[in-house]
Amino acid sequence: MAEKKATAKDKKKKDQPKLKALQDKLTIKFPNLFDLTDPATLKQAYDYADQYKQFISAAKTEREFTELAIGRLEASGFKPLQAAAARLKPGDRVYQALRGKALLAGVIGQDLCAGGFRILGAHIDSPRFDSKPTPIYEDSELVLMKTHYYGGVKKYQWTAIPLALHGTALSADGSLVTICIGENASDPVFTFSDLLIHLSREQLQKAAAQVITGEECNLILGSQPLADKGDDRFKLQVLALLYDRYGLTERDLISAELEIVPAGPARDVGMDRSLIGAYGQDDRVCAYPSLTALLDLTQPIPEHTCVTLLSDKEEVGSDGNTGAAARPYETFLMDLYARCRGNYDELAFRHLLEDSSMLSSDVTNGLDPSFASVSDPRNSAYLGRGLAICKVTGSGGKSGASEASTEYMGAVCRLLDAHHLPWQSGELGKVDAGGGGTICKYFANLGMQVLDCGVPVLSMHSPFEISHKLDVYYTFLAYRCFLENYA
Ligand code: MN
Ligand code: MN
Repeated sequence: MAEKKATAKDKKKKDQPKLKALQDKLTIKFPNLFDLTDPATLKQAYDYADQYKQFISAAKTEREFTELAIGRLEASGFKPLQAAAARLKPGDRVYQALRGKALLAGVIGQDLCAGGFRILGAHIDSPRFDSKPTPIYEDSELVLMKTHYYGGVKKYQWTAIPLALHGTALSADGSLVTICIGENASDPVFTFSDLLIHLSREQLQKAAAQVITGEECNLILGSQPLADKGDDRFKLQVLALLYDRYGLTERDLISAELEIVPAGPARDVGMDRSLIGAYGQDDRVCAYPSLTALLDLTQPIPEHTCVTLLSDKEEVGSDGNTGAAARPYETFLMDLYARCRGNYDELAFRHLLEDSSMLSSDVTNGLDPSFASVSDPRNSAYLGRGLAICKVTGSGGKSGASEASTEYMGAVCRLLDAHHLPWQSGELGKVDAGGGGTICKYFANLGMQVLDCGVPVLSMHSPFEISHKLDVYYTFLAYRCFLENYA
């Protein structure tokens, strides 16, 4: 009998299992989360997404987020730090707000801080438009508000859409007034006008940064006069309404913080409802999981002291007394340490900071197939592949960056692997395309290990940012796992 000759096809068939085994062993692929998620987990993820949508629909400013988060903390047994006992014990839950715009909360670990802190840090300010100090004026029988944009915005995205006014002002009698107009279905909304297409020949030739200028972002407030004639009769109608409803005068607006944000709630996006569209997901899509991961630490008491910090002013550089670069963040940790120990030793505290580990939780860009050219597809995060870990942020030649060490990043990835929690790796765009920073470096400067990681989004800094429901849920699970288990 003639022996059958091995063909090239047979050889390929024989090699295939070997190649597959090597591929599994030596290469990495980040699977789509739908391929890893059973129906029960999918239900949990979508329920979590509903809670998240509800929360961020009501928490559109740093002050609103702080206030709502305090409500959640107090409902879970957290007490204001200043009202807490002089000595803290394992399992104690405390919080402190920073001027109503930023928040720190902690759960005391079994080791009473001896092994350093485990920290989740996100920011709760988002790009928006603020009112100018003397904002309200009338022109051409319309009443308008002068604004000043906050953070990085493409101004043309903010015209001709419904906008809401959220804010805080101090009235003449000394009481603090909270304003929120445009969120209830029965509320009026506001808007920046845009030029009609018919007369836009010149505008359309401009570079995108100049299509709408800062001084053209004037919020339309009204058009009805208070009287038949007289100076300021249109403006006075709006001022009279503000006075009647809030007791505020033009003088009070000088010190007010009026923030103009897109009106309306977070929405499901897509026929399959798998995505979330909302204003301010940078960085509330990481702040909310950072908060709920801490709230979830009930039993057993974690080994190490766990802290979630939610900072303000990230979008303008993290400066000022509520920004992540400010000392009160460090002071809160110092206070926890002193109350755990019963005394304060500065040198020991500094070493404790060096023994601390943090996840800097901020969004990154998901690869957008419509604008893929700005991303390196081999080193980009994708929507639906889970928590995106960035070893390094910054721009150009890694400038302004804090880079996580191999030891620390490797340990975090291994921890997630051990708990079967998916993650992916990505850099923010191509190396020469631009870049961005996070609060990471301010805490790394204290000597901690810090790693940037968060939820990938599309349309970052736009009035309607997009996230993926499974990314949000698995990020929450990863953050909770870090607090509970990072050695
Ligand atoms: Mn951010
Ligand atoms: Mn941002």
